[in-house]
Amino acid sequence: MPRGFNIAVFEGDGIGPEIMKPTIELLKQLGTNGGDYVLNFESFPAGATHYAETGESLPQSSLQGARNADAILLSAMGLPNVRYPDGTEISPQIDLRKEFGLFAGVRPVTVYPGQYCPLKIPEGQSIDFVLIRESTEGLFWSQGKGEISENEARETLVITRETSEKLFRFAFELAKQRRASGRGKGKVTCVDKANVFRAFAFFRKIFNEEAARHPGFTAEHAYVDATALWMVQKPWSMDVMVTENMFGDILSDLGAGLMGGLGMAPSADVGDNQAVFQPCHGSAPDIAGQGLANPAAMILSAAMMLDWLGHKHEMEAVLKDGERLRAAVHAAISGRRALTRDLGGTATTDDFAKVVGSYLN
Ligand code: ATP
Repeated sequence: MPRGFNIAVFEGDGIGPEIMKPTIELLKQLGTNGGDYVLNFESFPAGATHYAETGESLPQSSLQGARNADAILLSAMGLPNVRYPDGTEISPQIDLRKEFGLFAGVRPVTVYPGQYCPLKIPEGQSIDFVLIRESTEGLFWSQGKGEISENEARETLVITRETSEKLFRFAFELAKQRRASGRGKGKVTCVDKANVFRAFAFFRKIFNEEAARHPGFTAEHAYVDATALWMVQKPWSMDVMVTENMFGDILSDLGAGLMGGLGMAPSADVGDNQAVFQPCHGSAPDIAGQGLANPAAMILSAAMMLDWLGHKHEMEAVLKDGERLRAAVHAAISGRRALTRDLGGTATTDDFAKVVGSYLN
């Protein structure tokens, strides 16, 4: 009997459904080759379009469906012209992060041969590192809680020992997995601003405690400003970088820039029990409904879902399929047979997905 995994699917807004559809087709295509596991998909409503229609952005039944699932696959959400009465955008992805305590935002930055990169990569080097953005506290802890008076506004940054310990443990575990798969250097860098803020000195102290438990790994520190510089000057020297929420938010867009844009940037938000896999980009309403969206970030996020399920359940077949799917996307990019407009081509979303599928056979 194959092991069944229930995948909660959120199709999202704007280009969301357009990139989710081919992603699920590719996941189904992978499944037809094996026999060890089967993915069962169930769609749940949420997002800005749903809010506009019903007044609910994340219904309780959708939240419960996500809670019960083995993994959550989420497409781009939110629309600039659909807002809550207080003016903020509809973002169920942030609600899920809070609800499930998804503390580790994993943002791989990988540039494969043939993939556009604004930098000139030296011979023999490659860009392949991962940013881990703490995703439940830091400066974002203050979201919706800031104090504003006539002449002053205050937002509070929060770092807790409990979350930081989990975050750093996760970072070293990821460095271990990367090294085992031949991709990582066994290095973890804590990115902070410990020279200025006490909260970051505390963050760094907890990092050092965790580092001491991993003698076989290189543990380094870097200030966030220097990290921004080095991401442009020598990104090939990086492996696993772990940082606070706001710093990670900013650096991960810089990482997406290194990969040729948001259409190439996948992500995972991981907690103790649940994990959400979604592209870094938004719902791109400017190109929605035209078949112009690049589905690569969504497909690569689905590959990360297979990695996570494979490691969690120690299933080699699932891990292998994650690698197959990622390799197929990169083959499609390198082959330059059907690039979407954001990558300088003229292919549609489905054309690109078809080429990815052709590399799975
Ligand atoms: P959010 O705040 O929700 O993250 P945003 O306002 O930053 O969203 P996006 O929706 O991510 O913006 O879009 C930014 C730009 O990138 C737009 O011009 C959009 O068309 C483009 N873009 C985003 N995702 C893709 C994609 N998958 N394929 C092609 N272009 C994309």
